[in-house]
Amino acid sequence: MKKKILGVIGDPIAHSISPAMHNAALKALNMDQEMEYKAFHVKPKNLGKFLQEVREKGYLGINVTIPHKVTVMEHLDEITQYAKIVGAVNTVKNEDGKLIGYNTDGPGFLEAIKNKLGITPEGKKVVLLGAGGAAKAVGMILAENKATQIVIYDVDETKTIHLTEQITSNFETKVIGLPSKNNDLNEYIADCDLLVNATPIGMHPKENMSPLPPNTIINPHTYIYDLVYNPAETQLAKQAKASGAKATTGLSMLVYQGALAFTVFTGINAPVEVMEKAAQKALH
Ligand code: NAP
Repeated sequence: MKKKILGVIGDPIAHSISPAMHNAALKALNMDQEMEYKAFHVKPKNLGKFLQEVREKGYLGINVTIPHKVTVMEHLDEITQYAKIVGAVNTVKNEDGKLIGYNTDGPGFLEAIKNKLGITPEGKKVVLLGAGGAAKAVGMILAENKATQIVIYDVDETKTIHLTEQITSNFETKVIGLPSKNNDLNEYIADCDLLVNATPIGMHPKENMSPLPPNTIINPHTYIYDLVYNPAETQLAKQAKASGAKATTGLSMLVYQGALAFTVFTGINAPVEVMEKAAQKALH
């Protein structure tokens, strides 16, 4: 029997851990004789051609990573409301030639904070560091799930302003966009319930750096989610733990966005623990 194809597209793509996670899930569910998940290196100029191939060859679905998450939207037949609001798609399902775009990054973050920190956004005062692609998905899902306040800080002030406006125009959550080099950031951090790092600071090769301004005090009652997943324990997570705060890093979000995409593709609940183990192994 010819296997049905799933996959991930990006440029570059060689370091993606998605094939390891999804193929481990297929194997655990005895579905690896019917389906296979591959990595496809697709350059921006070839994106349209590749999506035509997805239709023609009947691929079941694809995940989408940098730099295609926004541009892929031009080539789809339908896009979910949440992915439209975020303005990015990371999962495409092929339903008999009709390509439907989803975004599982924000819902993946939601599952990660529920399962790893034991919290939901409702009623929380949040500080979100970074206003790039990942921060957008996180900010939207926090607001959709009734966070009381989100304070956004990015070194690039134009991105802060843009994300602040985007969330405010879609949700009722109070959003405060801080200008860069703002001295109030420390106070907001000291007073927040949840601190999220959506900047690349702390990621290899800058693993000795923290995204926090100097002399920041972390309240022991604050929960910390660092989207960085390499290294597994970031400088920020170490600082948080030294302050007595509960902290976790980004592998869980990566795993849950993958698990949710697996369900979109197959209609079956994903074996999350299997996917997590495969992701950990692929990272080392
Ligand atoms: P991005 O689009 O480049 O956004 C990052 C933003 O952070 C940029 O605007 C950057 O500004 C800003 N920034 C850099 N240093 C900062 C600082 N000290 N304080 C405040 N803002 C700062 O990147 P992304 O795609 O959103 O990814 C961000 C991080 O999340 C990466 O480490 C990525 O690996 C991780 N991530 C994890 C997951 C997961 O599933 N765990 C998913 C997506 C992304 P400049 O561009 O001016 O430097």
